[in-house]
Amino acid sequence: MARDCIFCKIGGGEVPGDLLYRSDQCFVIADIAPKAPIHLLIVPNQHFTYLTGLSPSFYPVLGDMFAAARVMAETHGVTNSGYRLVINQGTNSGQQVAHLHLHLLAGQPMGAMG
Ligand code: AMP
Ligand code: ZN
Repeated sequence: MARDCIFCKIGGGEVPGDLLYRSDQCFVIADIAPKAPIHLLIVPNQHFTYLTGLSPSFYPVLGDMFAAARVMAETHGVTNSGYRLVINQGTNSGQQVAHLHLHLLAGQPMGAMG
């Protein structure tokens, strides 16, 4: 656990959070400031900030996060209507929380990126 990391604290139970899903490797919470009608965060238990530097031993955790995203899309009934998965990395992306996480956005048309 990283000190002063909100996602480590939620995952570790130090800060209360409404965990919507939990696997061995990750957990899912609703974004506190949703940017779409459905906005979930898929968060690995382990603290990493960037994809860069991840050792191959972590790759199964990334797979688990995408599997969780698929389950969440099904649970929320958006598998067919569609959803967007986003990982922000670094300053120009606007990354706010320095604990790697996958956004799942859905529930409305989002248009093209760019
Ligand atoms: P990012 O910009 O990719 O780092 O995204 C961080 C996201 O975490 C933002 O969308 C925030 O609204 C969200 N967030 C920050 N603190 C919390 C929290 N305590 N619980 C749920 N979501 C949070
Ligand atoms: Zn953390």
